[in-house]
Amino acid sequence: MTSYTQPMVIQCPKCRSCLHRRRLRSFNDFGAMGWSDGHNSIFGLNSISQLGRCAYCNKVFWLDDLEELGVLPKEGPRIGAVSRLYHWITRDSDGVLERERIWNATPWEWKNAKPAEMPDYFDLKIALADKGSLTPERELLVRRALWFHGNDHLRLNRDGKPLRDTPRMSVSDARENMLAMLDLIAEGNDSRSTEKGELLRELGRFEEAIEALRSVTGDAKEQAELIIGFAQASDSVVREIWRSQYDF
Ligand SMILES: [Zn+2]
Repeated sequence: MTSYTQPMVIQCPKCRSCLHRRRLRSFNDFGAMGWSDGHNSIFGLNSISQLGRCAYCNKVFWLDDLEELGVLPKEGPRIGAVSRLYHWITRDSDGVLERERIWNATPWEWKNAKPAEMPDYFDLKIALADKGSLTPERELLVRRALWFHGNDHLRLNRDGKPLRDTPRMSVSDARENMLAMLDLIAEGNDSRSTEKGELLRELGRFEEAIEALRSVTGDAKEQAELIIGFAQASDSVVREIWRSQYDF
């Protein structure tokens, strides 16, 4: 099951509102699928991002740049008169009264904060333009997310329909973004082993794609071979490359 631990409380750098930063505890890939560009449909994973947006003033920020005020404590169960007496007699051996005390002492702004929102396509463009907070590593993260958006009209879902009806980006913008990603990968920024080959394939540079993918070893080798197959067929469209074992 996809589950979250208690959220971290952060503060918007612009309007100073408190926000919750979601933290993933575990996820399942029941019914999930993954595509050649690395995007997957695992519920929960996509709601965890390094980029966030203020739910109150819409400011886009990098979550790691924000001060962490603390972890929101869990709200304890309501304690009735009889059990309160019991916990008092047992000197609160279960820690129930202590949990209640901590919860009551937690600032109201923490308890009532909205979660930081997931950045949408336009927020990614804002993040890309904000050179002050952009590092090469972050630029690659943003460009990768834009790339995923740019592929959504070609990305077929389980029902065989694309995720989007119309392209999100122009062909030239999508190309420019992929070329910038290749540059960032060449500079040594963190990238999945099949990413370079997939970018080259989607750019129609099939020979180079095959060469890059042939060097992939380990767990990703099987996926690399699938993508090589697409390149050999001169197919430059994003394709499904896995489905979870437990399916519906
Ligand atoms: Zn704000």
